[in-house]
Amino acid sequence: MEKQQAEKRIQELSKLLEQYNYEYYVLDRPSVEDYVYDKLMHELADLEETFPELRSPQSPTQRVGGMASNQFAKVTHAIQMQSLQDVFDFEQINSFVTRCQTDFPDAIFSVEPKIDGLSVSLEYHDNQFILGSTRGDGFIGEDVTANLKTIRTIPMILRCQENLPLLEVRGEVYMPKEQFLKLIAQQEENEETPFKNPRNAAAGSLRQKYSEITAKRKLAIFIFNLQRCQGKIFSSHSETLAFLEHAGFQVIPGWKLCHTAEEIIEVIQNIGDSRKDLPYDIDGVVIKINDLEQREILGSNSKTPKWAIAYKFPPEEKETILREIEINVGRTGALTPVAVFDRITLAGTSVSRAILHNQDFITEKQICIGDKIIVRKAGDIIPEVVKSIAHADNAIPYILPQCCPVCGAKAVRDEGEAVLRCPNISCPAQLHKQLVHFASRDAMNIDGLGTAIITALLNAGFVRDAADLYQLTKEQLLTLEGFKNKSADNLLNALEKSKSASLDRVIFALGIRNIGQKAAKLLCESFGSLEQIEQASREEIAQIEGFGDIMADHVCTALHDDSVQKLLAKLKSAGLAMQYEKKQIQSDAFFTGKIFVLTGTLSQMKRSEARQRIEALGGKVSGSVSKKTDYVIVGEDPGSKLNKAQELNIMTLSESELIEKLNS
Ligand code: NAD
Repeated sequence: MEKQQAEKRIQELSKLLEQYNYEYYVLDRPSVEDYVYDKLMHELADLEETFPELRSPQSPTQRVGGMASNQFAKVTHAIQMQSLQDVFDFEQINSFVTRCQTDFPDAIFSVEPKIDGLSVSLEYHDNQFILGSTRGDGFIGEDVTANLKTIRTIPMILRCQENLPLLEVRGEVYMPKEQFLKLIAQQEENEETPFKNPRNAAAGSLRQKYSEITAKRKLAIFIFNLQRCQGKIFSSHSETLAFLEHAGFQVIPGWKLCHTAEEIIEVIQNIGDSRKDLPYDIDGVVIKINDLEQREILGSNSKTPKWAIAYKFPPEEKETILREIEINVGRTGALTPVAVFDRITLAGTSVSRAILHNQDFITEKQICIGDKIIVRKAGDIIPEVVKSIAHADNAIPYILPQCCPVCGAKAVRDEGEAVLRCPNISCPAQLHKQLVHFASRDAMNIDGLGTAIITALLNAGFVRDAADLYQLTKEQLLTLEGFKNKSADNLLNALEKSKSASLDRVIFALGIRNIGQKAAKLLCESFGSLEQIEQASREEIAQIEGFGDIMADHVCTALHDDSVQKLLAKLKSAGLAMQYEKKQIQSDAFFTGKIFVLTGTLSQMKRSEARQRIEALGGKVSGSVSKKTDYVIVGEDPGSKLNKAQELNIMTLSESELIEKLNS
């Protein structure tokens, strides 16, 4: 390729990769598959190698892809959080091993599964967990301490005997496969866009404004590196992993030490074979030099260490025959085509259905019933149709039906939308799904009101909307199959109990498009009552952080719709409380905006409690003393932070003085 052409392509690739990085790391919503991204990244790296003078320091090949969002306080990493150099074949593993053993003939390697999640750093001071952050751009990450505390396997206090003034570990937060499947089923049910894979689900769940939501997502973590430690010396990675396990961490499972490339390749193959049975997703295998001094000598490039590489598994794809396309009617009437094909086994599970998204997707891929198609499991979890490779004789391109397959109403396609919808709000398929959503755990939490009972209630004509549920009588329930005295009483009690559900749950239960749990909570936090939300203008709603014009539009349209107004009035007269208590964010003149550092042992409360109480009053707690620190809180046996505070002339408070301020 000519230099001029290369320059143009480098610009194109850089722009595209920046965009993909933004979608992947900041929005947690990638628009392309990882292998597409990896291919483009390699094309860019190859061009830059051929024309090194065209490589800019800002190139995506030179930088870790993320960026810290403004939603969280920023954390400057003491040591850069790097990425890993990817390799895709065993030849490259041979070269890596040869390169390392040329410098260090005795080099041995730790070979570990590469967990598909997101990297975090956990910092402990005097054995207590004080700060957790995401990788961000590698230099500045996000403070997600509160959300990380919801992960049960992160020890709040280290279980080791010795006191470590400082410990920093790095690990991968992930969402177990089972939890991911539950979450996307729920998202589909709520007609929210489901996460594409467990990695994005983990990132989206950890980077939540409300820790309660993170807690519900049941994330987990594996620690894969000890980054910094004061108070103990180690000489190898394997030693650090053994120590971390003993200190209470869940360390990366299944790691093995290997001496040769052959041994490494065998471990990779074994990990690959066991991949489908693991309860979490892995996307490759990491190979690292075990000796810490050798690592130090080899050092790093701007983005990756020279002492480690990541072997990436290729995605598994199979051929099959598309037999049918079914249309699924969603809660808000979305008509979603689903491909039904001859059963195949992909990444260890048997699959026969995959989502086809919408008409544009089908048209673009020229999909016809009877085609030979390629199906892949993205992120090893959700099957998807990649392409059609051969049409059957007389195949005709598939066109979605123009009417709802359940009620027969003429389908509509809103301007600018790819989705076809059934516009009939009394469509039985929509009504059924709406009631299931209304009763679900995160909405009104009506215990015992499941799909089968809702079907029976609709068939008997006892309910035509959600408010009718509150008019049900015991006599009516006893006429339904399977209901006995006790089960009827239980359901009526559960309905009664749900009347006190908070307003955000009721709004979520209404099933407004794009308004999930979090958005419903944000609406209530901003306006406080249903009346205020109803009176708010589109512009006012769009200004809520986390909202955009489309979401604001959907809220206004839904809440001013006659049928929703009627439903809300019926719910109110049925006795629903629909109240919301705003989160009490107290501010205090002494604490607001000030930065505190804790040193030494506190005797009257735990550090975590001190931190929580300071933060609740508007203060911030930092891990190290700097010119920006306002107060250092001095406990028993203070560490070097006290000396630093004195050097910088920073005010100090004793534990009792702090408690006095907190209580006043
Ligand atoms: P990476 O995921 O390829 O590898 C580095 C990360 O692996 C580390 O930061 C660490 O968090 C993790 N890891 C898991 N197990 C580990 C172990 N045992 N030891 C050490 N580290 C371990 O690199 P990255 O920079 O996080 O992400 C780049 C990759 O993300 C790309 O290769 C691509 O596949 C994907 N990506 C996709 C898109 C997209 O649009 N689809 C966009 C950006 C990035």
